[in-house]
Amino acid sequence: MKIGFVGLGNMGAGMCANLVGAGHEVWAFDLNPEAIKTAQAAGAKGAGSLAELAGTVDVVVTMLPAGKHVLSVYFDPDGIAANAQPGTLFIDCSTISVDEARDAAQRAQNGGFLMVDAPVSGGTAAANAGTLTFMVGGPDDAFSASQPILQIMGANVIHAGGAGNGQVAKIANNMLLGISMIGTCEAFNLAERLGLDAQTFFDIASTASGQCWSMTKYCPAPGPVPTAPSNNDYQAGFAVAMMLKDLRLAQQAAGIADAATPLGAHAEAIYAQLDEDGYAGLDFSGIMRRLKGEI
Ligand code: NAD
Repeated sequence: MKIGFVGLGNMGAGMCANLVGAGHEVWAFDLNPEAIKTAQAAGAKGAGSLAELAGTVDVVVTMLPAGKHVLSVYFDPDGIAANAQPGTLFIDCSTISVDEARDAAQRAQNGGFLMVDAPVSGGTAAANAGTLTFMVGGPDDAFSASQPILQIMGANVIHAGGAGNGQVAKIANNMLLGISMIGTCEAFNLAERLGLDAQTFFDIASTASGQCWSMTKYCPAPGPVPTAPSNNDYQAGFAVAMMLKDLRLAQQAAGIADAATPLGAHAEAIYAQLDEDGYAGLDFSGIMRRLKGEI
């Protein structure tokens, strides 16, 4: 199968390489020529433009920074939709707003294309290893068509429902992650201040009712989980700026849906302050350092 891949950044480079590794003919495009060269070195063919890529392939995968880039790449006059054959499958793996994803799906359908939103859980390590989780929104036929391609790049591919529902799952999950990370940091900091060391508290809480992913897989207190960024000076990992992006998308969607999310709003404010203070690149578990008064 001929696959086009647009957006060869931190995430896209590894995802593109995995499609090549599975034996597909992959045409790669990015605004950054260096990124195309890296994809070529991994075995992809370099496309000179979006139009050339769109006219060549059966499937397009995009992994772009934000919604405005996604809408532009697909629907500008020199973009994908204007140059692709009807019936081409569009798979957008970027994290964008629910509204933009639904708008893109409608415009794709109007043009005779199949489209899914398929945002991911997992960072660059999972992108490189092909172990991402994909949360997929779109009609059954588009989901079925996208499944074999997503399975090459991921360990889990879950159909979340109609167009935009992949993005709904993504922002609801990451809002919970942001809230639970702050709560985990507060609990470890409180325990330590009161004389309970991190390892002992971890041994108790990780088998008690406070247990959560932020604690057992990504413990923000150094020590208990050796692979966590807390043991590497809180280098990301999953950066404050990325968490803030997702919390903002969640708040925007909550406003439109009139859904009460007081803790989601508070989490957004806490990460926004850290971002504003110059810690956009710190791992999101670095809230621990703020609570300790170190930053
Ligand atoms: P990135 O900035 O590293 O890569 C984006 C790439 O898109 C860049 O190479 C850029 O040159 C290219 N690009 C931008 N506009 C373009 C255009 N008009 N045409 C062609 N190429 C264009 O970003 P990333 O970290 O790879 O993240 C991509 C998406 O994945 C984002 O939506 C992000 O929220 C999501 N995501 C990232 C992570 C992570 O850990 N990095 C985890 C989960 C989800």
